[in-house]
Amino acid sequence: MRAQPTSNSARRLEKSMNKCSRFSGGCGCVEVRYGLRNPPLFVHACHCLDCQKASGSAFRITTIVLERDIVINQGDVSFRKISTQRTEFICKSCGDVIYRTATNHPETALLNSRTLDDLRMLEIGAHIWTVDKHAWLKLPADVPQFENGYNRNDVWPRESLDRLRH
Ligand SMILES: [Zn+2]
Ligand SMILES: [Zn+2]
Repeated sequence: MRAQPTSNSARRLEKSMNKCSRFSGGCGCVEVRYGLRNPPLFVHACHCLDCQKASGSAFRITTIVLERDIVINQGDVSFRKISTQRTEFICKSCGDVIYRTATNHPETALLNSRTLDDLRMLEIGAHIWTVDKHAWLKLPADVPQFENGYNRNDVWPRESLDRLRH
């Protein structure tokens, strides 16, 4: 299925903004604490086999933010290259991954959703790689679904795409 840019996803984003104007989180050992200057650009649930393995669950929630919106309020964050294109930013004490960046998507960062204080603030805007989805899992009909990946220009709310360009 191919979704149109929906005002639904814009509404969902607005809803998450109203719920809490300030997203915050930290690593497992609580040395690192961070906040977000703005809500995430987009949140999707990935059902691919890698994400199932990484999360130990049916899907992984990926929170995409502007890297410059991440404010480390406390603790030391170091980084390590995990491939030529990808870098992980981790807590120096416990090694928890706080976020990842990739050179093919400069400006954005993939926040490790697990580190957020309250994951319930995340409104999933799309389900992707549903080709690998667990058969028992029924997805909500009003959230766009994709058998594989998606093009963010077709799916993200206009407001998020604008934030990316400024
Ligand atoms: Zn830590
Ligand atoms: Zn995945």
